[in-house]
Amino acid sequence: MARKPPVECPVCREPTDADEQLEDHLLANHTKRKLAMFIVAEAALLIDDDAK
Ligand SMILES: [Zn+2]
Repeated sequence: MARKPPVECPVCREPTDADEQLEDHLLANHTKRKLAMFIVAEAALLIDDDAK
């Protein structure tokens, strides 16, 4: 009944298909290296915030 809205992929900013889990999207569409780079970038942002 209540369909969940599509989740926007944080890596490529593309909405996932309604019946696709974000986890599956990440595995199918992004390499491990791409995911690692994304996580590193996010971690760097968190460190920058702490420095303020
Ligand atoms: Zn994506």
